[in-house]
Amino acid sequence: MPSSRKSSSLPGKATSLSDGGTPLPGDPSFPSVGRSSQPDGPASPNPAKARALISEASRALLDERRDLDQNELAALSKLGEEHVAALAALAHEVRVDRCGLQVELEGILSVKTGACTEDCGFCSQSSRFDSPVKATPFVDRDDILSAARATAATGASKFCMVLAIRGPDERTLERIIDAVRLVKRETGLQVACSAGLLDRTKAGRLAEAGVHCYNHNLETARSFFPKIVSSHSFDERLETCGIVKDAGMELCSGVLLNLGESDEQRLEMLEELRRLGPCDVPINFLNPRPGTPLGSRTLMRPWEAIRWIALFRLGLPSAVLRYAGGREVTLKELQAIGLTAGVNALIVGNYLTTLGRSPQEDLAMLEDLSMPVGMVGAAI
Ligand code: SF4
Repeated sequence: MPSSRKSSSLPGKATSLSDGGTPLPGDPSFPSVGRSSQPDGPASPNPAKARALISEASRALLDERRDLDQNELAALSKLGEEHVAALAALAHEVRVDRCGLQVELEGILSVKTGACTEDCGFCSQSSRFDSPVKATPFVDRDDILSAARATAATGASKFCMVLAIRGPDERTLERIIDAVRLVKRETGLQVACSAGLLDRTKAGRLAEAGVHCYNHNLETARSFFPKIVSSHSFDERLETCGIVKDAGMELCSGVLLNLGESDEQRLEMLEELRRLGPCDVPINFLNPRPGTPLGSRTLMRPWEAIRWIALFRLGLPSAVLRYAGGREVTLKELQAIGLTAGVNALIVGNYLTTLGRSPQEDLAMLEDLSMPVGMVGAAI
């Protein structure tokens, strides 16, 4: 689910956000191609020091039940590739200790696709880019209900309706509310939605209609955000996240890795999430979409993705850490390893504009891992 969704008036052609001349989507200096987390950062500590760092993190999280601080997470992020397996093993132990072995499944449906006014540089649903995604209006309620029933049949506990908009206008809000009530009544699933920026009144109405959880991803670090999006600000995203929590809905807020951000900026986004405290943290990996400014970036390397999954678990020990968009193309054969490196939730079926693998394959993977499908919240 690589985004939160937004609408309203067309903000016009993107212009420079700041007098610092930040490159914007479409500018020649926009980071369309960049490194994909190659291990060229600071030197890794020696093996004895690396073992000591991991063992201190284990003592803090499992024995003292103390959260790691920023410096400890930064030190762990610099461990060499040979230590990623140990990092993943600790992350798995922490996940089982805090959340149990259950894995939560969620189905998502794009109920309004494409023609989005916003200019998120990774997104094929933006009207600013020449992408092959076909814009479609709000999906019929019967089709929403059949998708929700198909989700329920996989054993999933949650169904999320996603809209490619800046934020809901009155008519859209009413349609969302109607669909939320319908799905809840007919399937008993927890209903989530992702419809972009909200004000307090709209958030209150969604909560009252029975929206259990609202998705609004931070996407990337505050310091990198203006290089990726110019049509809204990082602070606007944060504000909506706060409004969601104040309205009594669970907050689902995650990230999209490999947009060109540095390791330090990944740690920065992790820190922001730790302050924000979402229940559910989707981890998306860039799946470069044709026609977007990031369409020619290389994929993140699978082992590097495992490192960051583990670090996000160590930084967010009790969160529902959810595999989201881009996991199949990024992790390939390592998808099961992510589930033993901290991931405890999956989006099953297709994503918004890309195909996922079949729910049966995911269920078989969970069975092989002896991980039961269930509601993780109930175990925390
Ligand atoms: S362009 Fe629109 S749909 Fe795409 S991520 Fe941005 S807000 Fe969401």
